[in-house]
Amino acid sequence: MSETLFEKIINREIPADIIYEDDLSIVIKDIHPQAPTHLLIIPKKVIPKLSDSSIEDQEVLGHLMLVAGKVAEQLNLDNTFRIVINNGAKAGQSVFHLHLHLLSGRSLNWPPG
Ligand code: 5GP
Repeated sequence: MSETLFEKIINREIPADIIYEDDLSIVIKDIHPQAPTHLLIIPKKVIPKLSDSSIEDQEVLGHLMLVAGKVAEQLNLDNTFRIVINNGAKAGQSVFHLHLHLLSGRSLNWPPG
């Protein structure tokens, strides 16, 4: 299998604006931001999409949520942000390496489009 875009970023093969990293995850700025703050919270383990995860991924999945909260706090997002996971092409997923979108800094409508 060829490397995913996000593996290339994790491996520093292509550049990205990295704002946080630990053993299990990396957080980068989205290259096409949909809000004043638009981050991607990415596990280092390659899980193509959320529905491919299993019980063995419980720790990493929980970790991603905690990282989202930690980064939001560090960036002073006023406890106001949205987390989105697109699962599958018809749901808007374009990079098949699981990631959480963190969006903040503007009003966010519901339901999303
Ligand atoms: P998805 O559509 O899979 O839910 O989200 C993929 C996200 O990756 C999109 O929001 C897209 O803008 C972002 N993206 C695509 N290519 C790059 C890139 O090369 N660098 C960064 N930082 N983000 C990217």
